[in-house]
Amino acid sequence: MNKRSMNKPFSNEIPKTFRVAGMTHTVVFEKHKHGDSGFGEVTYPDNKIVLFAAMDGVPICRDQMIQTFWHEATHAILQAMGEGELNRNEKFVCCFSSLLNELMQSAETYLIGEEVEQ
Ligand SMILES: [Zn+2]
Repeated sequence: MNKRSMNKPFSNEIPKTFRVAGMTHTVVFEKHKHGDSGFGEVTYPDNKIVLFAAMDGVPICRDQMIQTFWHEATHAILQAMGEGELNRNEKFVCCFSSLLNELMQSAETYLIGEEVEQ
Protein backbone atom coordinates (compact mmCIF):
# COMPACT_ATOMS: atom_id res chain seq x y z
CA MET A 1 0.00 0.00 0.00
CA ASN A 2 1.53 3.28 -1.05
CA LYS A 3 1.01 6.74 0.41
CA ARG A 4 -1.48 7.68 -2.31
CA SER A 5 -3.82 4.85 -1.36
CA MET A 6 -4.04 6.24 2.19
CA ASN A 7 -5.37 9.57 0.95
CA LYS A 8 -8.72 10.53 2.49
CA PRO A 9 -9.72 13.65 0.58
CA PHE A 10 -13.33 13.70 1.76
CA SER A 11 -12.71 13.57 5.49
CA ASN A 12 -12.30 17.28 6.20
CA GLU A 13 -13.92 19.04 3.30
CA ILE A 14 -17.27 20.50 2.34
CA PRO A 15 -17.64 21.54 -1.29
CA LYS A 16 -18.31 25.16 -2.21
CA THR A 17 -20.21 23.97 -5.27
CA PHE A 18 -21.27 20.64 -6.72
CA ARG A 19 -23.46 19.42 -9.56
CA VAL A 20 -26.55 17.22 -9.41
CA ALA A 21 -28.34 16.31 -12.63
CA GLY A 22 -26.56 19.07 -14.51
CA MET A 23 -27.48 21.74 -11.97
CA THR A 24 -24.83 23.57 -10.00
CA HIS A 25 -25.55 23.81 -6.30
CA THR A 26 -23.78 26.25 -4.00
CA VAL A 27 -22.98 25.85 -0.31
CA VAL A 28 -22.77 28.88 1.95
CA PHE A 29 -22.27 29.34 5.67
CA GLU A 30 -24.32 31.62 7.87
CA LYS A 31 -23.27 32.60 11.36
CA HIS A 32 -26.56 31.98 13.11
CA LYS A 33 -29.46 29.63 12.80
CA HIS A 34 -32.77 31.26 11.99
CA GLY A 35 -36.29 29.89 11.98
CA ASP A 36 -36.89 26.18 12.41
CA SER A 37 -34.45 24.95 9.81
CA GLY A 38 -32.21 22.82 12.04
CA PHE A 39 -28.49 22.91 11.37
CA GLY A 40 -28.92 23.66 7.68
CA GLU A 41 -31.36 23.97 4.83
CA VAL A 42 -31.60 23.48 1.09
CA THR A 43 -33.64 25.62 -1.25
CA TYR A 44 -34.46 24.38 -4.74
CA PRO A 45 -35.29 27.43 -6.80
CA ASP A 46 -31.71 28.65 -6.33
CA ASN A 47 -30.09 25.23 -5.60
CA LYS A 48 -28.46 26.53 -2.45
CA ILE A 49 -27.45 24.78 0.76
CA VAL A 50 -27.03 26.92 3.86
CA LEU A 51 -25.03 25.51 6.76
CA PHE A 52 -25.24 27.30 10.07
CA ALA A 53 -22.08 27.90 12.09
CA ALA A 54 -23.86 28.29 15.43
CA MET A 55 -27.20 27.62 17.04
CA ASP A 56 -28.37 29.79 19.91
CA GLY A 57 -24.81 31.06 20.26
CA VAL A 58 -23.24 27.58 20.49
CA PRO A 59 -20.84 26.71 17.65
CA ILE A 60 -21.88 23.71 15.57
CA CYS A 61 -19.09 21.12 15.65
CA ARG A 62 -17.26 19.91 12.55
CA ASP A 63 -18.86 16.44 12.54
CA GLN A 64 -22.37 17.88 12.78
CA MET A 65 -21.63 20.41 10.03
CA ILE A 66 -20.38 17.68 7.67
CA GLN A 67 -23.37 15.43 8.45
CA THR A 68 -25.69 18.39 7.82
CA PHE A 69 -24.04 18.94 4.43
CA TRP A 70 -24.70 15.31 3.41
CA HIS A 71 -28.25 15.52 4.75
CA GLU A 72 -29.01 18.59 2.65
CA ALA A 73 -27.16 17.15 -0.37
CA THR A 74 -29.38 14.04 -0.10
CA HIS A 75 -32.43 16.31 -0.23
CA ALA A 76 -30.99 17.98 -3.35
CA ILE A 77 -30.40 14.60 -5.03
CA LEU A 78 -33.92 13.35 -4.25
CA GLN A 79 -35.39 16.63 -5.52
CA ALA A 80 -33.46 16.22 -8.79
CA MET A 81 -34.78 12.65 -9.06
CA GLY A 82 -38.35 13.86 -8.68
CA GLU A 83 -38.72 11.75 -5.52
CA GLY A 84 -40.87 14.23 -3.61
CA GLU A 85 -42.41 11.70 -1.23
CA LEU A 86 -39.03 10.19 -0.36
CA ASN A 87 -37.58 13.69 -0.04
CA ARG A 88 -40.16 14.54 2.64
CA ASN A 89 -39.32 11.34 4.55
CA GLU A 90 -36.82 12.76 7.07
CA LYS A 91 -36.17 9.30 8.55
CA PHE A 92 -35.01 8.05 5.15
CA VAL A 93 -32.99 11.20 4.46
CA CYS A 94 -31.28 11.03 7.88
CA CYS A 95 -30.42 7.33 7.53
CA PHE A 96 -29.25 7.47 3.91
CA SER A 97 -27.18 10.63 4.40
CA SER A 98 -25.55 9.18 7.54
CA LEU A 99 -24.47 6.10 5.60
CA LEU A 100 -23.24 8.24 2.69
CA ASN A 101 -21.32 10.47 5.11
CA GLU A 102 -19.69 7.44 6.75
CA LEU A 103 -18.66 6.09 3.35
CA MET A 104 -17.14 9.43 2.34
CA GLN A 105 -15.43 9.95 5.72
CA SER A 106 -13.85 6.49 5.71
CA ALA A 107 -12.95 6.27 2.02
CA GLU A 108 -9.35 5.82 1.00
CA THR A 109 -8.80 6.82 -2.58
CA TYR A 110 -6.77 6.01 -5.65
CA LEU A 111 -5.47 8.67 -7.93
CA ILE A 112 -6.89 7.81 -11.34
CA GLY A 113 -4.15 6.26 -13.43
CA GLU A 114 -2.29 4.94 -10.38
CA GLU A 115 -4.86 2.36 -9.34
CA VAL A 116 -3.12 -0.50 -11.16
CA GLU A 117 0.29 -1.64 -9.93
CA GLN A 118 2.88 -1.26 -12.67
ZN1 LIG B 1 -34.06 17.09 6.12
